[in-house]
Amino acid sequence: MLRLVPTPIGNLGDVTFRSLEALREAECILCEDTRVTKRLLSLLSERYSIDFGPTEFISFHEHNQDAFLQKITPEFFDRNVAYVSDAGMPGISDPGAKLVRYAQEHAIAYEVLPGPSAAVTAFVASGFECVRFAFYGFLPHKGAERERELKKALTEEKCVVLYESPHRLLKLLEELAAMAPDRTVFLAKELTKRYEQFFKDSAANLYEQFRDKPIKGEWVAVIDKSEEEATALTLTIDEILRLPLPKKELAKMLAKVSEKSVKEWYAILTKD
Ligand code: SAM
Repeated sequence: MLRLVPTPIGNLGDVTFRSLEALREAECILCEDTRVTKRLLSLLSERYSIDFGPTEFISFHEHNQDAFLQKITPEFFDRNVAYVSDAGMPGISDPGAKLVRYAQEHAIAYEVLPGPSAAVTAFVASGFECVRFAFYGFLPHKGAERERELKKALTEEKCVVLYESPHRLLKLLEELAAMAPDRTVFLAKELTKRYEQFFKDSAANLYEQFRDKPIKGEWVAVIDKSEEEATALTLTIDEILRLPLPKKELAKMLAKVSEKSVKEWYAILTKD
């Protein structure tokens, strides 16, 4: 039997009863980092007076997962095996998917225990009233691929949730400020931890706010959906400009497919 076990993303109190039970029953724990998991079990053991018993800890991470799965046989899972990543839900920007696929291909019984995830926590904290959201995980670090992904994110008709490392957060804000300065962005820092902080403002203002400050800790960015994309995909600015409509109406339509306001467009249209 295989169980994918979520662990807290900061606050130990967020561990679930089922996670504690699964970790206690595990005869073998596959860990993204055995040191992190051993430390977590020691803290949980102290806090909840649980004896996790003798357990085998095996390293299972993105660099050895293929080799590991080639080496074992399905009988490996005849005992109770748990998999934990360093924090949060395994399989969400963490290894886990390959284990699930292995279980499916070899008819191994598996369970996924629900639990804390930074993406869902940040999305709810954002207060954006989107029914749908897209989870982009980590963007490519640089180059055309990053730019392409970011452009795609900004044309989503749903909120976009991104993970970003502290040393690239400013770069992300700079890119967002350049590409969509007025778009509202929500930043969640150190979720569930003592120094949890939320920031919500336009991309341009957030960039200004952070540009001269050292950025530390763990971050999730939630980008508000684009209100205009459905129209933007079918009608370009040039096409709208050619429509035989009063300037006020044109300004309203142009504002819908761009980052400029109705007022700004009206000023442009009536300049001459
Ligand atoms: N599996 C995890 C989950 O379910 O949230 C995500 C793991 S991913 C490798 C780590 C990234 O998640 C961090 O770089 C950060 O962007 C985000 N993250 C994790 N914990 C966080 C926290 N407490 N506060 C803010 N962001 C967090």
